[in-house]
Amino acid sequence: MVNTIVSIENLVKRYKDLIAVDNFSLHVNEGEVLGLLGPNGSGKTTTINCLLALVTKDNGDINVFGKKMSQNAYDIKRDIGVVLQNVAVFEELTVYENIDYFCGLYIKDNATRKRYVQEAIDFVQLNDQVKMVPKKLSGGLLRRLNIACGIAHKPKLIILDEPTVAVDPQSREYILDGIKKLNEQGATIIYTSHYMEEIEQLCSRIVIMDAGKKIAEGTKQELKRMIKTGETVKIEILNLDEEHLNGLRRIETVTSVKYRDELLEIKCEQGTNNLMLVMRYLDEHNIPAGRILSELPTLNDVFLEMTGKELRD
Ligand code: ADP
Ligand code: MG
Repeated sequence: MVNTIVSIENLVKRYKDLIAVDNFSLHVNEGEVLGLLGPNGSGKTTTINCLLALVTKDNGDINVFGKKMSQNAYDIKRDIGVVLQNVAVFEELTVYENIDYFCGLYIKDNATRKRYVQEAIDFVQLNDQVKMVPKKLSGGLLRRLNIACGIAHKPKLIILDEPTVAVDPQSREYILDGIKKLNEQGATIIYTSHYMEEIEQLCSRIVIMDAGKKIAEGTKQELKRMIKTGETVKIEILNLDEEHLNGLRRIETVTSVKYRDELLEIKCEQGTNNLMLVMRYLDEHNIPAGRILSELPTLNDVFLEMTGKELRD
């Protein structure tokens, strides 16, 4: 039986005239890594803030672990780990003291707490920094501290809101691997990001948001099957005039043709022979081609087809 960990029904959150979250529903099952993907301003953080009852919602029902979420629902909150978008740690406390403080909010037994704090430090590999204060840490290490503070008490549900923004590549891989491990150890994860690559890499199911609304949801394979684009063909060509671009546009399975900086980019419908048809056109018109690449659709293609906008900043 599938256990629903989070259920959000018809959530609405307004800031004056702005509808930040617009009738949004979300269900998260036990054991999932649910990715909430959307551009900046699409309502991800507001959704998380409502889910945690950090802000009051204007409408909707939110249940966590099968119980109604509210500001005072401490029995629910103790089983949630939160890593907020804005790093929230105490500047006066050391790395160790910070983790110990947050863990201590939930874990009262001293020996258990000590063990959990050490495990969190090992987990984010901040052993060499335990005596440092946060302002001595690089951006990536500070993020890792933020994560350690959020997960030290071994919560069943972990919510991470854009935990890799402004993080160096090494710490980023570290953070993504760590989240996978937490999931393998049994935690259910909600992960928000505007980086489609991360969401693809990490998440077992993806919900795409735009302007406060749910645009689509599914596994990455399901999402990619929902759109017309099946393949993007990229070919290096030194010179290509408008006449040939139009000729390429007339190929039946071609949906869009762009040519910039000596790179021809052709989006094709799902199906076979796309690359062959393009190459045949180039060959018939004596157009020499350099490097050739064929790429499967990305989540940006999904977003582009569904909203008419690019997901990228
Ligand atoms: P995301 O996390 O996807 O970047 P947010 O949830 O932060 O999006 O923001 C959604 C929309 O709500 C944006 O237009 C943002 O400007 C607006 N917003 C968020 N927080 C506030 C606030 N406290 N007051 C007014 N507007 C806000
Ligand atoms: Mg946000």
